[in-house]
Amino acid sequence: KILFSYLCPMNQDTICALATANGIGAIGIIRVSGDDAISIVQKSFQGKDLTQQKSHTVHYGYFVDGNEVIDEIMASVFLAPKSFTTENSVEISFHGSPHIGKKILEVLIKNGARMAKAGEFTMRAFMNGRIDLSQAESIADLIASENEASRKVALNQLKGGITNEISILRNDLLNFTSLIELELDFSEEDVEFADRSAMVKLIQNLKFKIQNLLDSFQYGNAVKNGIAVAIIGKPNAGKSTLLNALLKEERAIVSNIAGTTRDTIEEILYIKSHAFRLIDTAGLRETTDEIEAIGVKKAKEKVEKAEILVYLVDAATENFSEDIEMIKSLIRDDLKLIICATKIDEVIPTHYEKIEQIFRNEIADAFDFITISALENQNIQDLKNELSSYVEQLKSEEGNVVITNQRHYEALQKSLDAVHRVESAITGQIHTELLAYELRNALEHLGEISGEFTNDEVLGNIFSKFCIGK
Ligand code: GDP
Repeated sequence: KILFSYLCPMNQDTICALATANGIGAIGIIRVSGDDAISIVQKSFQGKDLTQQKSHTVHYGYFVDGNEVIDEIMASVFLAPKSFTTENSVEISFHGSPHIGKKILEVLIKNGARMAKAGEFTMRAFMNGRIDLSQAESIADLIASENEASRKVALNQLKGGITNEISILRNDLLNFTSLIELELDFSEEDVEFADRSAMVKLIQNLKFKIQNLLDSFQYGNAVKNGIAVAIIGKPNAGKSTLLNALLKEERAIVSNIAGTTRDTIEEILYIKSHAFRLIDTAGLRETTDEIEAIGVKKAKEKVEKAEILVYLVDAATENFSEDIEMIKSLIRDDLKLIICATKIDEVIPTHYEKIEQIFRNEIADAFDFITISALENQNIQDLKNELSSYVEQLKSEEGNVVITNQRHYEALQKSLDAVHRVESAITGQIHTELLAYELRNALEHLGEISGEFTNDEVLGNIFSKFCIGK
């Protein structure tokens, strides 16, 4: 393992931080971790002697600062190595006032602890080998999860889903690498310990499995970040009415997320536990008498960010040449197109059947065609089904391990490239030395995911995004 220079000195300190949200609550929890965690808390604890207690026990008492009682608390004691960080730890539950929390922290620091940095508890769990890096990252994802799908994927990762998958791949590769390195040791004798045809087979298998993981990223990304949907159509086509209809039913679970990571305000629509981000619709609902034609440029900008385009046409009109032109200018290979004819309450079915035919004749690319009335709430469910079927088909049939993390995706991509080079090294009869080099390369990239091969910068980057106290 690589030595983590800047991390190691910090590891000896005993750290403390508020683990619950900052604000008033029924209780608040302060976490203390490190060699001296228990004795540091004991200095200010009136109750049983915490240093004499068994692991995983909870003790009632008072937290004091000298003669002054600060609060009535419960102290939970966890002895190394059976704690979140694998170090001695105490969790102090106090009456959930931010003021009390602050006072307790001050006293703990006076007693010899220091404030934890962002993510430092989790980083210690990683540094001390209790979890690997992908599991540490999944903890951040779990905390951030806003819906069922992202919760499940993150939990699976925490339970070691990706870790297991990757370690199987690595072990296969490791066996061959050691045989190849053995050959290098005996290079004068011109022997082959590693069966080259078995190796080719293994490489095929590896390529297949890595590719599957890479493919799962599209779904993983959808789960983690939601699916971007653009609603486009001519003025008065019924866009704002549709938006209201979509959001009305879901009012209770709709939220406006003023993005810290996203630069626009988006409306989020949840369908079957997946989040759909309706791009830049903020203005739509207010401008009921919108007259200004939506420019092609503006529409293009919106659609560029989208994975799904819902193109709305007014079924009560006759001429669709502008719509067709607009759609043709927006379409691209990786965009799902749904043409949605609205206001069907105003026309007879044969009319919108005719409309579908017009679009089918003019637009060669695949699209789904649905008919709705946003005003009368007809067939809105059809549109929702279309949206959720898009996510469903992103799910891979192969296993249930899903890559959600850009860093993992990039490491897998690099592993795949290295595996390709291993393949050409074998088939191209390239020198064993080079083959060994490429094999080690592939191993290292796979090891980046679990954190076995990584550097301070990457680690600092990952853990600094955690909240304090985690
Ligand atoms: P936007 O400019 O695309 O946002 O269009 P609006 O949603 O403001 O709708 C324009 C007009 O069409 C309004 O008078 C709506 O009441 C009307 N409208 C929208 N959807 C429907 C529908 O499904 N049926 C009927 N009959 N009228 C609709």
